[in-house]
Parts: sequence; structure tokens; C-alpha cells
Amino acid sequence: MLIDSHAHLNVRAFDDDRQDVIRRAREHGIGRIINIGFNRETIPGSIALAEQHDFIYSTVGWHPTDAAFMTADDLDWIESLCRHEKVVAIGEIGLDYYWDTSPKDVQMKVFREQIRLARKLGMPIVIHNRDAHQDIVQVLREEKAADVGGVMHCFSGSWETAKLCLDMNFYISFGGPITFKNARQPKEVLSRVPMERLLIETDAPYLTPHPFRGKRNESAHVKLVAEAAAEIKGISFDELAQVTTDNATKLFGLS
Ligand SMILES: [Zn+2]
Ligand SMILES: [Zn+2]
Repeated sequence: MLIDSHAHLNVRAFDDDRQDVIRRAREHGIGRIINIGFNRETIPGSIALAEQHDFIYSTVGWHPTDAAFMTADDLDWIESLCRHEKVVAIGEIGLDYYWDTSPKDVQMKVFREQIRLARKLGMPIVIHNRDAHQDIVQVLREEKAADVGGVMHCFSGSWETAKLCLDMNFYISFGGPITFKNARQPKEVLSRVPMERLLIETDAPYLTPHPFRGKRNESAHVKLVAEAAAEIKGISFDELAQVTTDNATKLFGLS
């Protein structure tokens, strides 16, 4: 069994064949999917998906690219949804300096507020980090995120950054990029992350692994990520599958 620790199966890219995509995931041995709700639009659909399928769970959070639009009501709304029995984490939250669609100080504020909420509720957090490594680490430290821990999703930073996150109680998750020939850094970081802190994900419909790169991603493809990760780690597929499944089960408190 494998767990896809980060997917967006409720977004529009799956509107025509969502149930087929979910069925294919089951057929490929994906035993659990953590689906990520990240703004006003996607959170209700993510929770609905978790309600419809036993093996799908949901997160709720406010993505940094939408930070400029988050209101105090939205934060209260997220807090109330955290009581839902299928909601397992707050996220994805963080900083995105690549798209730069919200001012940095606003992203920072929204990120901090949600870490505080996670600490208040004792829930793990799912971190989105794009070109913001230094500030991410600084905010996690200042807000004492180590108290709740969580996962650095689709990690793209250096080993130095990974090490700082590991020291703050975070898991490190890898996706499609580790299957790309020229992706030297994520492969190197993966080789050094301790097994007991390793997660795998698709981020479907984005970041499609080789040999489907360029096409829409889906949860069944987490198997390709697992195969690549096992090879980099120099262990069997079965061992990689077992450990990452145990890790995700523990982090998200799955049954
Ligand atoms: Zn993300
Ligand atoms: Zn995502």
C-alpha cells in the first residue's frame, strides 16, 4: 500500500473523470489520499470528496498565493472545519515568492495566523514553500511550529534548509521532480533525509512524474515517485512503501 500525502483531486482538471481517477488510484494500491483544500473555492470540494470516500482525507488552509484575499471570517471558517472528522491537518500554508500574487508581508501575516491556529488546535501543518526558504524557516521558528510539526510538501530546497526543518519536527515530502533526470538537488536531499521522516506525494494535477511529464498528474502516479525514491535510497520498493505509509499514518493520525 502507498499513501499519496498531497493531492488536489477536487480541482477542475478532474471534473470530467474524477471517479475514474479515484478508482485507478485504488487499483494501483494507493490506500489513502490526503486531499488539500487551500482557499474559499477548493475547501468545500475537498471536504466533500473526503466525505464520499473512506480512504480520502482532507486538509484545510489558506494558500499564500491567495493571502491577499483572506479575511478574519475565513480564518474562523477554517477553524470550524478543523473539527470535521476527516480533516487531518492545516494546509497548505506558507510562502510563495515565485508567483508573487500577494505582497510578502500579507503572506507572512496569513502564514503566522494559521500556524497559531494549528498550535491552538494541536494539528499538524502542510507547508508550501516556493523560493522562500529563508523566510519559511524563520517564521516556523518564531511561531514555534515545532510544537505541532507537519510536512514540507514537494520539497525543493537545499539539504541545509531540510536539516533545519527536520530539527523543527517536520517530515520532508517528495513528488514527481525526483523522477526527472536533471533534478540533482531534490535527489541529493532525499538521499540524506532519515527514513522515519520521509513522505511521498503527487501534488496532482501538477508536477507529473516521468514518463508522463507534461500531462495531467493523478494519485496512481505516486507509485512512480515511490519507485524513484526506493532507487535513490537503495532499498526495496516494499520497504519504501511500508515506511512512508507508516510515516503518513502517524503524522496525519489516520486509522
Ligand atoms: Zn504547494
Ligand atoms: Zn498542493
